[in-house]
Amino acid sequence: AVLARCDAVEPQVRAYISLTPDLAREQAAAADAAFARGDIRSPLQGIPLALKDNLCTQGIVTTCASHMLESFVPPYDATVIQRLREAGAVMVGKANMDEFAMGSSTENSYFVPTRNPWGDLEYVPGGSSGGSAAAVAADMCIAALGSDTGGSIRLPAAMTGVVGLKPTYGRVSRFGLVAFASSLDQIGPLTKDVRDAAMVLQAIAGHDPCDSTSGDVPVPDYSQGLERGVRGLKLGVPREYFVEGMDPEVEASVRTGIATLKSLGAELVDISLPHTRYAVATYYVLANAEASSNLARYDGVRYGLRTAADGDLLSMYKQTRAEGFGPEVKRRIMLGTYALSSGYYDAYYKKAQQVRTLLRQDFQQAFTECDALLSPVAPTPAFRLGERLDDPLQMYLADIFTAPVSLAGLPAMSVPCGYTQQDSLPIGLQIIAPPFQEDVVLQVGAAFE
Ligand code: GLN
Repeated sequence: AVLARCDAVEPQVRAYISLTPDLAREQAAAADAAFARGDIRSPLQGIPLALKDNLCTQGIVTTCASHMLESFVPPYDATVIQRLREAGAVMVGKANMDEFAMGSSTENSYFVPTRNPWGDLEYVPGGSSGGSAAAVAADMCIAALGSDTGGSIRLPAAMTGVVGLKPTYGRVSRFGLVAFASSLDQIGPLTKDVRDAAMVLQAIAGHDPCDSTSGDVPVPDYSQGLERGVRGLKLGVPREYFVEGMDPEVEASVRTGIATLKSLGAELVDISLPHTRYAVATYYVLANAEASSNLARYDGVRYGLRTAADGDLLSMYKQTRAEGFGPEVKRRIMLGTYALSSGYYDAYYKKAQQVRTLLRQDFQQAFTECDALLSPVAPTPAFRLGERLDDPLQMYLADIFTAPVSLAGLPAMSVPCGYTQQDSLPIGLQIIAPPFQEDVVLQVGAAFE
C-alpha cells in the first residue's frame, strides 16, 4: 500500500531522493516469513520507514541532498539503521532534506524542493527533514527518521501536522549520521502519532560504543506510561516564547492546546527563560563554526565528488568545493570559518559558548519550577515555496523556538495542535523536558493527543 501510494503522490510531493522498492519488497517478505514462523522481534517488524538521506545506508547512495555526495555509497550502516534492520523494519527510501541539513524549508536540496502535502502543494514542508515529514504526512511511509540540529525534526513535523521528537543530546547514537554541528546533531522519529514515536525511539535509543557522545543511560520502556495523563504535572509556559510579530493563529492554537492540558489536570506555571532572545544568534555562530570544521573533509579525495582539475592539488580542492556545495552551505562555511579565525574567536565563538551556558542555565532554573515546558514550535505556519529563499535571516527566524532547546541539549517534541483557517495549514505545540526525560515528553504528548 505504501509503495502504491508513492507511485500515486511522489511525483507531486517529491519527499524522496531515492526510493528502494525492491529492497522494501524483499524486507517485507522476510518480515512476513518471520511472522509465519512466530519470530516476532519488535513492533517495527514489517513496518515501512523513510530515512533522511544523511543517514549512512550500506550499499545505498547517501547524498545529504548535496552534489558533493551525489554518488557516495557508504560502506557501512549508521547505528540507527543497523538497529532498524535488526528490528525487522522495511526501508522505503532515502528522504529529501536541505543540503547537509542546513535550512528550514527543504528548498536547499541540490535535487528538488519537497512540497508540503497540505494546502495547494505550494507551501514548504519545513526543514531540514522536510522529506521525512512529508513522506509521513502523505502516507508514503508509516514513520520516518530525521535529524535535528536546531529544529530540523520539530519544525517540519509542525508544518506538516505529524509528530516529531528530538531526543536528548546523547540519547541516540550519531554513528553514521553525516555530521553538521556535532555538539547539537541528534537523530529522532517523525511519526503519525505519539505512540509510534515511542516505538521508533525505543528501537534506536541507547548507548553505542561507536559514538563517544552517546550516554550510557538506561532506556525506559517508552510505551509504558503513555496513558498516565498529566494530572499532577506542573507544566511551564515560557513568556519569552510568545513574541510580538508571531502569527496570531499560531499563538491562538498553541494557547488553546495549553488550556486543554490544563483542563486535563495539569498545573500551569508562568516561566521566564530570560536569554531566549540570544538563542538564534548563538546557534548560528556555533552551528556554522562546527559545520565549517566538519565540512573540511569534502576535499575531492576522501568522499564523493572530484572535479576534473587542470592544475595542482590546491586548485582541485577549490574547484571541487566550488562545484560541490550549494550557496547556503558555502555561506555557512564562510561564516563559521570567520567566527573561528584568530582574532575573532574570542569575540564570536567563545562568546557564543558562554551564552550557550546561560541558555542552558535558564532551562535548569525552569525545571526546578516545573516538570516540562510548553511552547510554539515556530512563529508561523508553513510559508510558500520561494518566499524566504532570498532572505537567509528570515529563514533563520523559523528556528527561534527550537534552537534554544537544541543548545541546551534537551528532548522536545512537536505535536499537532491546530490548523490555520486558510488552506488548513498545521500548527505544532512543542513539549520540552529535562535531559533524558523523553518519557515525560511522550506522556504529555499522549495526553494531549
Ligand atoms: N534550520 C536550522 C539550520 O538551518 C536547523 C537545521 C537543523 O536542525 N538541521 O541550521
